[in-house]
Amino acid sequence: FIKASVLAGENYEDEMLPVTGQSFSGKSSFEMLQDVRKTLPIYSYRDQLLKAIEDHQVLVIVGDTGSGKTTQIPQYLHEAGYTKHGKVGCTQPRRIAAMSVAARVAHEMGVKLGHDVGYSVRFEDCTSEKTVLKYMTDGMLLRELLGEPDLASYSVIIVDEAHERTLSTDILFGLVKDMARLRPDLKLLISSATMDAEKFSNYFDAAPIFIFPGRRFPVDVSFVAAPEADYLDAAIVTVLQIHVNEPLGDILVFLPGQEEIENVEETLKNKIRGFGTKIRELIICPIYANLPSEIQAKVFEPTPEGARKVVLATNIAETSLTIDGIKYVVDPGFCKIKSYNPRNGMESLLVTPISKASAMQRSGRAGRTSPGKCFRLYTAYNFENDMEDNTVPEIQRTNLASVVLALKSLGIDDLLNFDFMDPPPAEALVKALELLFALGALNKLGKLTKVGRKMAEFPLDPMLSKMIVASEKYMCSDEIISIAAMLSVGSYIFYRPKDKQVHADNARLNFHTGNVGDHIALLKVYNSWKETDYSTQWCYENYIQVRSMKRARDIRDQLEGLLERVEIKVSTNFHNLDLVRKSIVAGFFLHTAKLQKDGSYRTAKHPLTVHIYPSSGLSQVVPRWVVYHELVLTSKEYMRQVTELTPNWLVEIAPHYYQLKDVEDGASKKLPKATGRAMA
Ligand code: ADP
Ligand code: MG
Repeated sequence: FIKASVLAGENYEDEMLPVTGQSFSGKSSFEMLQDVRKTLPIYSYRDQLLKAIEDHQVLVIVGDTGSGKTTQIPQYLHEAGYTKHGKVGCTQPRRIAAMSVAARVAHEMGVKLGHDVGYSVRFEDCTSEKTVLKYMTDGMLLRELLGEPDLASYSVIIVDEAHERTLSTDILFGLVKDMARLRPDLKLLISSATMDAEKFSNYFDAAPIFIFPGRRFPVDVSFVAAPEADYLDAAIVTVLQIHVNEPLGDILVFLPGQEEIENVEETLKNKIRGFGTKIRELIICPIYANLPSEIQAKVFEPTPEGARKVVLATNIAETSLTIDGIKYVVDPGFCKIKSYNPRNGMESLLVTPISKASAMQRSGRAGRTSPGKCFRLYTAYNFENDMEDNTVPEIQRTNLASVVLALKSLGIDDLLNFDFMDPPPAEALVKALELLFALGALNKLGKLTKVGRKMAEFPLDPMLSKMIVASEKYMCSDEIISIAAMLSVGSYIFYRPKDKQVHADNARLNFHTGNVGDHIALLKVYNSWKETDYSTQWCYENYIQVRSMKRARDIRDQLEGLLERVEIKVSTNFHNLDLVRKSIVAGFFLHTAKLQKDGSYRTAKHPLTVHIYPSSGLSQVVPRWVVYHELVLTSKEYMRQVTELTPNWLVEIAPHYYQLKDVEDGASKKLPKATGRAMA
């Protein structure tokens, strides 16, 4: 076959351009922003790019991070008239990137966010009838496909940050590839920061590749001589050394997650305070997915003259977000990734060494506006010998139940022959089918059931969706959606300041009176807050994160709307908590564990030794049987969000999965009989 390759322009000559945000006398801020847009590397290729898009239905676009792909291409398409007959949709792997980029583009276009430019992320739709440029998470586009299988309202789909290879992006690849054949008028752009271009091009029937050079300044990369015992300590020391010894310029530190960021933030603050006025100002800006948007916006504010900014970021700053002014990168070499064991169905979030490709992206962040330095807190030997070349695509290391359910409801039944760019392990597909079968979402032939159809309406993990659908039978959907909303917010409900830990713990235990279990405690928190008319003061008094509660309320509102859509009546049953517990078991009967003689627990299926999470209300109660929401692996395998159950319920609720002998005393070692396999 012939592969058309569009290689645009010549190499960019290194020249200093006006610093972003600098004022040009006599110009309005709107005009100034337009000037800034013109300084982005992609601007020189605007016309060539538009020509290539006009000439080809599918185009792979490759350009360095920060060169303007995400913010500019949709605007170019708008300026060129593509939005006259449909929207431009641009997917992002991360919700915070979708929100922040949409805000930036609305600003550049001088429009209100949510009008011409909007975003759509799970549980938050900031778009209107007028919206023509729509940023969204890849997962949201997948959900939109359920309602609009031909994407008729779009004229262009940009699958952005394709190199991230998230699960949803990989599934989208297969779906939009098909769609492009069905709809010759639809333009499809696959945009990526790294050079996997060939692979994308091959997958999309030899689509042409449009590569444009970015602007890169040399980055001086150094490794540590010997492995660091504690990478967080090492990161803190490195930041301070840079701050004291190196010329001005901002620092970007990559950390695995929120917890590590909060730790480093606190330690750094204390150390800086210790130095007093001996050193210049160091502004600390954390950035991670759960951070409220006002604080997120802070990282983009220019650093005041004479001061230095240190950005503590997750992977999000690797390619999704570009922060100007970074001159130093501190890279401990770790990230948090999901890993899934299809053999026992266990999923955990693990701090893992990054890939070489990630390490290169990270160091590249130091050389965007001037020469920079990257401090790798691992040895050159580690880099060469221990790091993988590329991160394994998510599809090969995750639980597939949720996407299998989505695909089934799109009418795609033959999953083993789905056109995957990199197929998931067959074992993981079978496991997902088995899980959906066990939950009653699929029948023995692998076809979607009525229950499955209802479950697919909820943008939640299938177990949570099943819990909600089952609440109809137990007449407690009102309670169950509150619990589902609280669980979806994650583990950031209770606030525990270091100097008031005892007060905070007491406040938390109040909700556990009667050893009701963590799910019901969450429900009590929600209901109590509601009774105070959603009072902020009440949250402070009870050491509860207001932000998380507001988010839970939003999510709950949406779940209530979805209940209506699947025609489940909202009924309440707070006085019969056993019914609420039974609904939970109906969704999570695969997540049960039985107490062992030594005080640990053993999961009922695929026996694994687990423990109740120390902050659980049941950690001192140790009931005989429990149902848990999730497992987290830290020093041990912990069950988080735990509720007691009566073993007979398992036989009553999931007779296809549990038999009496499985739940009777002394039978805990016996494995339940294998269930029927749903057909792929
Ligand atoms: P790419 O997608 O090629 O990585 P982007 O379009 O995201 O590049 O970014 C282009 C430029 O836009 C960045 O260099 C940055 O200066 C600016 N930018 C992007 N998002 C924001 C934001 N939220 N606030 C301020 N500036 C931003
Ligand atoms: Mg981008």
